[in-house]
Amino acid sequence: MAQHQINYFQNAALPAAVTTLDKIVQWGRSNSFWPATYGLACCAIEMMASGAGRFDFDRFGTIFRASPRQADGIIVAGTLSKKHAHLMKRIYDQIPDPKWVISMGSCANTGGMFNTYATVQGVDRIIPVDIYLPGCAPRPETLQYAVMLLQKKIRSQKMSKRLKPKRLV
Ligand code: SF4
Repeated sequence: MAQHQINYFQNAALPAAVTTLDKIVQWGRSNSFWPATYGLACCAIEMMASGAGRFDFDRFGTIFRASPRQADGIIVAGTLSKKHAHLMKRIYDQIPDPKWVISMGSCANTGGMFNTYATVQGVDRIIPVDIYLPGCAPRPETLQYAVMLLQKKIRSQKMSKRLKPKRLV
């Protein structure tokens, strides 16, 4: 006969946790958001700083990828010109589903101060955007906050939900 018994309920030390497949998959996705690198203008400097030592995005599982085929989404950082828009669309299309988009900075959100014939007045005219990050330029801390909001959004979504095409054009 055993000389001692383990009391699993002591100090709330339960040996097992119960959850749903949805929750665990979305938790994994939210903590390994790998964005495709897409720096277009000055905002890109702040985005690069986010990945460097001082802010160290890797700690959050956010690792920049140079290939859209290995990415979970895209952070559009900077001014998008109309001449370049079709290339951004192509990169977005190459990212496998499910995918998420952060629009970083006033230029990406609305065209910013460049209300000209050559600038796209918001990347959401070309691709769907999940999080809009305001500022000119937003600091790395705010990009970190945007990623945290995106993680929250991913966790609230259902894995089993049928993916609808997100194309706008
Ligand atoms: S929002 Fe400001 S910092 Fe960012 S790309 Fe536009 S002008 Fe540059």
